[in-house]
Amino acid sequence: MLIIGSGIAGFANAYYIRRYCPSARITIATKTDLLESSTRHAQGGIACVWASPDSLDDHIQDTLNAGAGLCHPEIVALCVSKGAARLEDLIHLGVPFTRKDAAFDLHREGGHSHRRILHVDDQTGSSIHDSLLRAVLNDPLITCRPYMQAIELLHDANGTCRGAHFIEHNTTITADITVLATGGTGRLYAHTSNPETSTGDGIALAFLAGARVANLEMMQFHPTLLWKEGSPFLITEALRGEGAELITLNGHAFTKSYHPLGSLAPRDSVSQAIVRECLKTHDSHVLLDCSSIHEEHFAKRFPVIFKTLQKNGIYAPKQPIPVFPAAHYTCGGILVNAFGQSDIPSLYAVGETASTGLHGANRLASNSLLEALVFAHEAAYAIAGHTNQSLPPIKVSPLERGTPYPMQALHKTLWDNVGILRTQAGLQKAQEDISSLHHTLMEEPASQQRRLAEHMLLLGNLMVQSALLRKESRGVHALAEFPEKNNIYCQDTILGLKTL
Ligand SMILES: Cc1cc2nc3c(=O)[nH]c(=O)nc-3n(C[C@H](O)[C@H](O)[C@H](O)COP(=O)(O)OP(=O)(O)OC[C@H]3O[C@@H](n4cnc5c(N)ncnc54)[C@H](O)[C@@H]3O)c2cc1C
Repeated sequence: MLIIGSGIAGFANAYYIRRYCPSARITIATKTDLLESSTRHAQGGIACVWASPDSLDDHIQDTLNAGAGLCHPEIVALCVSKGAARLEDLIHLGVPFTRKDAAFDLHREGGHSHRRILHVDDQTGSSIHDSLLRAVLNDPLITCRPYMQAIELLHDANGTCRGAHFIEHNTTITADITVLATGGTGRLYAHTSNPETSTGDGIALAFLAGARVANLEMMQFHPTLLWKEGSPFLITEALRGEGAELITLNGHAFTKSYHPLGSLAPRDSVSQAIVRECLKTHDSHVLLDCSSIHEEHFAKRFPVIFKTLQKNGIYAPKQPIPVFPAAHYTCGGILVNAFGQSDIPSLYAVGETASTGLHGANRLASNSLLEALVFAHEAAYAIAGHTNQSLPPIKVSPLERGTPYPMQALHKTLWDNVGILRTQAGLQKAQEDISSLHHTLMEEPASQQRRLAEHMLLLGNLMVQSALLRKESRGVHALAEFPEKNNIYCQDTILGLKTL
């Protein structure tokens, strides 16, 4: 079996496959070293219903509210209800979730009606990743192959996926089962919280192999990245859960005029409020005022943020933190069912690269580590032969033929035109820019590098086409000409090479 990607989704999938198939031999191939992934950067934590007065119903409702009508309710219920069992697995693997007295210390984040975020101070992702990495490295039947970038999926005459081709040394790895766990697409944008590995490779490979993709217009922007050139450092939402407030440079607390939950509203609302406010004030950023948080508490609960800010000359919580939104999370991805199965036989997708239907039009904070874990488990169960279902044949929207599928210019046009506030003219401009970039690229001699660039342009194009199809505003997709939700569009945007 071949798993591509070494974040939480890839490692957890390997761990669970071995639980259900004790004799399975697994290769995990990953683009750079075994560590680089979005997973390692996750600070805030993992959402899970753990203690009363919280309830599964409340977590389900919060997820549906954030997703603005596009979540698949059965997937939400499945994910939320299986969360605690998967968290027990992490505890068993040694993840040292932060405790307060005898109980876990639960944080609250935007869109959550309760404190339900388990965390390891502000280093949750790296702590979970370390524990899974240990489990994987200690397993003699799992082989890890770093510095192997997948560039094409292989298939047999029946269209069944049979492994992948990698750039390094022109290597081919054949496999009876292939799992894409390649993360999101944030790095296609000029400003992002994502590491360099997040270029959406798996989505492009699956699409080119014939799998459908869903909701690629739904790029979530995290409201609070440290506002500093070349410094994609994220300031966790949990600070707002502890009382920090977003204010303008003049000290005006503005978020309540956009949403009743103010600074703790879902991310789409807060990011859009920041941009709208900056357009009014002509400021380049806003401030996160943490003065209501005691310094000792801040330093103890958020040690990495505390120290990183000091290195940047910001002495929080006394001084406010300059912040602005950036591209953060790919809510859509490769269309899969509840067991991670894509359209292509023997090809699975798990984690941020997949579109399970959990996030809809806007992911609820701290639901993505949860999703990666739960569906890595469900996919392992299916891979072990316990279930075999295929995806239902939902119709795909027609792709504009002839629209073509280097890359500062791509990052810039996506940021400028397919960003937090969108216009039809902007989306069309992005489409033209991508078309002209493709034209220029095709004049270069054929090479692996050109192919990688083509994949990025393809993804950019799919994002723009998806956004153009949605003539309404919903969740993270805010379109000036159509500022309201429209029930006609209360469905996934699905694109594919083949029309079913
Ligand atoms: C700064 C930051 C903070 C976050 N905080 C939180 C949080 O507090 N809570 C939460 O729930 N979520 C959070 N998220 C989101 C969450 O971390 C990610 O959605 C999640 O970790 C994705 O896991 P993954 O395994 O799907 O992908 P990743 O962790 O990104 O792993 C993808 C892997 O695929 C590899 N790969 C990519 N392309 C290829 C290729 N072509 N060939 C081979 N390998 C490839 C990469 O090298 C990497 O190893 C945060 C994200 C960021 C960036």
